[in-house]
Amino acid sequence: MCGNCSDKHHPDEPASPGRRKALLAGAGIAAASSFAVLPAQAQDTPAPVGNGPWRVRAFGNRTAEGPFEPLEIPRRALRPNDVLIDIMYCAICHSDIHIARQEWGAPYPATNFPCVPGHEIIGRVAAVGSAVTRFRPGDIAGAGAMIDSCGECENCVNDLEQYCVKGWTLNFNSPDKHLGGYNYGGFSQRVVVPERFTVRIPPGMNLAAAAPLMCAGITTFSPMQHWSVKAGQRVGVIGMGGLGHLAVKLAVARKADVTVFTTTPGKVADAKKMGAREAVVWSKPEALQAYANSFDFLISTVPTNVPTHPITNMLRLDGTYVIVGAREPIEDVRGSGLWLQRRQVSASLMGGMAETQEFIDFCGRRNIVADIELIKPDQIDRAFERIKAKDVRYRFVVDLT
Ligand SMILES: [Zn+2]
Ligand SMILES: [Zn+2]
Repeated sequence: MCGNCSDKHHPDEPASPGRRKALLAGAGIAAASSFAVLPAQAQDTPAPVGNGPWRVRAFGNRTAEGPFEPLEIPRRALRPNDVLIDIMYCAICHSDIHIARQEWGAPYPATNFPCVPGHEIIGRVAAVGSAVTRFRPGDIAGAGAMIDSCGECENCVNDLEQYCVKGWTLNFNSPDKHLGGYNYGGFSQRVVVPERFTVRIPPGMNLAAAAPLMCAGITTFSPMQHWSVKAGQRVGVIGMGGLGHLAVKLAVARKADVTVFTTTPGKVADAKKMGAREAVVWSKPEALQAYANSFDFLISTVPTNVPTHPITNMLRLDGTYVIVGAREPIEDVRGSGLWLQRRQVSASLMGGMAETQEFIDFCGRRNIVADIELIKPDQIDRAFERIKAKDVRYRFVVDLT
């Protein structure tokens, strides 16, 4: 039975100690229990494409204001642990906009141009390096925002690569240690990713709608795992965009009692359809006062700054407020808002790769995917504008097939 809810049909979800032990022992993901047997997933074996390197078609912008246009970018030759993915779908995360439009300042890195963003990738494996054990050509694979880490620090060996103390590598706009320069993301025909940073996609998933799970999904799932969101707990989701709507679905899947806080009246009906008990339209902090001391867990997916104090005030004793939208600084944290009910404020980043695989399997068993609008690459600029105007239900996915 699931440890998070009373549904006896749910298997236990938290990370299996057996698998963690296998990973800690250095056996690697290939030897871990969930990955030990390759299911018969390959539907058709693609024509051989060699071992590269390749030059592939991509879509990027040459200046922060510039439009997206077709480009040609390099992809490295396969190393023994690499997987070549022919990208089918890549969703648009708000971080793609922040970087492509150079909206972030320090401590975030400056944008290199041309910029090819995109980090919610689903595609078909076209070739694998000689040491790859979890994939065969023809399999469906996913890749997210993180494509490398040191692999040796305490956090990496504990399956927490997203907190690598030496710094992980983002899949675009990060220094490319193999080709020099900087790397390019998923708005492209192909990508080469180390096997350790790819996940297997369960059979039967809607692949376009599964793409947003690779960043938006795992980013909201990981804190719910870490803070053990359970059946019957009151969970508040602040902001119902790409991350927020998945947070609602995931909290509902854990049988939590979910309330959505949105600034868009048109999203109320959607929130309830996704299983939220209540959806509150708010624009001023006073609207939150009615919920003082009510929630066990609050998650903010809002990519801009909102005052913290009115939100922490909604937590009950020992409640946690987690911020997953990137922002600097976190404003209006007040001591009295914390010590009055021993509340805590935290922030969380993506998920480790073992956890990402657990999460994708969790979604596969429950048929959880994103609500999406499928677009063509020449619609990326327009999609960026619509996301900024909160005019998307709920994630754009670029069709690269
Ligand atoms: Zn993202
Ligand atoms: Zn590390």
